[in-house]
Amino acid sequence: MLPGLEAAVDRLVKRGYRDAMWSAAQADPTKPRFARVPAGKEPCQFCLMLASRGFVYTSASAAGDHNQYHSHCACVPVASWESSPLLEGYDPDALYRQYELRSTVPPLLLGGAADWPQWLQPVSLERWRHIVDDHGPDSTTPGKSKFTPDMNIGQAIFDTIVDGDPGGQGMSRWRPDDVASRTRQLPIDGKVVTVKLAYNRDSKDWFVTTAFPDDSR
Ligand SMILES: [Zn+2]
Ligand SMILES: [Zn+2]
Repeated sequence: MLPGLEAAVDRLVKRGYRDAMWSAAQADPTKPRFARVPAGKEPCQFCLMLASRGFVYTSASAAGDHNQYHSHCACVPVASWESSPLLEGYDPDALYRQYELRSTVPPLLLGGAADWPQWLQPVSLERWRHIVDDHGPDSTTPGKSKFTPDMNIGQAIFDTIVDGDPGGQGMSRWRPDDVASRTRQLPIDGKVVTVKLAYNRDSKDWFVTTAFPDDSR
């Protein structure tokens, strides 16, 4: 969620525009168009898909009014009578890119490549989404470093796992009754990519917990 968009939607909701807009929309003969605008953290794939279409819905209910498609869903149908509506911070193209990015784990991270460490689990879809929701180029999570749009994130993570050096926190940080973690770091395209790994004591294997670039440009 972009701070600008959050603020914009917050203003709409707080000022009662939301309801005012809808009643006006129902009465208005010029037929507004509605968009489903994500107003909460981490919209699900379905919300992203609806939201990425822009101002295309002919009614608030078509835009999913009152339908919460996931827990904590805070998407809001927003009406517009403009021919080219703009809402600060609402970028349907960015939402579509995010939708596409989080739809599948890059094949390189599924553990089939010869170089993939035998001891490391494939990256799960849930974990992949966690990474790109926070660190994807169109991520709206504040305070997180972002991969650049021209970076192949799957390749960068793979290369860092295979060729990276143990990171600043030490290669292995064992704690008696807890998990161990490992860090790999590799400079790619002028950034240092970090991949964090952790050990699951129950399943006795390592998995990728997160991956991100540093903030340097
Ligand atoms: Zn949703
Ligand atoms: Zn939603």
